[in-house]
Amino acid sequence: MKILNNKLILFLFLFSSFSLSQELKIYGTLQPGNLLIGVTKNAKTILLDDKPLDFDTSGVFIFGFDRDAIGYHKLKVIFKNDEYITKNFKLLKRVYKIQRINKIKTKYITPPKSELKQIKAESNLMKAARKEVGKLKTPFFVNGFSRPVVGGNFTGVYGSQRILNGVPKSPHNGVDIDVPKDTPVKATTGGKVIIAGDNFYYNGNFVLIDHGFGLTTVYLHFNKLNVKTGDYVKKGDVIGFVGMTGRATGPHLHWGVKWYNKRIDPISLLNLKLPDLKKVIMNDLME
Ligand SMILES: [Zn+2]
Repeated sequence: MKILNNKLILFLFLFSSFSLSQELKIYGTLQPGNLLIGVTKNAKTILLDDKPLDFDTSGVFIFGFDRDAIGYHKLKVIFKNDEYITKNFKLLKRVYKIQRINKIKTKYITPPKSELKQIKAESNLMKAARKEVGKLKTPFFVNGFSRPVVGGNFTGVYGSQRILNGVPKSPHNGVDIDVPKDTPVKATTGGKVIIAGDNFYYNGNFVLIDHGFGLTTVYLHFNKLNVKTGDYVKKGDVIGFVGMTGRATGPHLHWGVKWYNKRIDPISLLNLKLPDLKKVIMNDLME
C-alpha cells in the first residue's frame, strides 16, 4: 500500500509538472550579467532565490544577474491553485577583459576639490532617482529591445576591468558605441525618463529611463538632450544626440543597463530574440 502511494505521488508530480511546464516560458541565457524575460499564466507568486519578482496580469516578468553573480539559483512560480514549478540552475564564473584607457584628463581621475560639492550633489540626485526604481509596475519593455544607435563599433565592453591612465578603477558598467557626434540616440524600449541630466561631471548630458519592474537604461555623454525628466518615451524615440560631455575622450555613446542594483550587460537585451510577447500572452498561453 505504501509503495502504491509513492507511485501515485510520483505519477501526480510528473503529470502536474508536465502540464504546468506549458505555462512558463523563459527567454535569455543564464549567465552572469544577463537579463532574462519570463511569461507565465495564473501565477500567484514568482520567486527568484526566495525573493518575489514583479509581474502583472500579463504574466510577464524579468530577472537578471550581476556581473559577478555565481553559483546556484532557484526560480519558483507558484500558481493560483498552489501548484508550482521550480527551476534550479548554476551560473559559472564569467571572465572579463581588461581595458586600459590613457588619454583621460587628470581632472576625471582625481577631481579637483572645487568640483567635489557638485559631484556629491549629482551623486545624491542619482541615488534619489534610483531609490524610486521598482515602483513603476508597468512592463514598458514588452515590445522588446533595439540598439540605441544605428551602426558604430563597440569600443568598450560590459564588465571590463578599467585601468584609466594606469589607475585601476571600477569595472565598466555598460558598452561604448563609437558613433559620430550628433548621431540620434533612441530609447532601447519604452519607459519613463527619470533623469534628463544637464552637464553632470562624469556623465555629461545624459538620460536615465525607468522601464518598469526595476529595469533601467542610461545613455551618457550627449551633445544635446531631446527629452526632459518625467517624459514618457516609446521604443525608438530620439532621446538625445551623441557627444563627448563629461568623462569621455571622444564622441561616443555609453549605454548602461541595470535591473534594480544589478549591473546588466546591454548586449544581453539585444540577444534576447523575443517573440511578440503580447502574442505569447494572447495565444500560446491561452487555455
Ligand atoms: Zn562607457
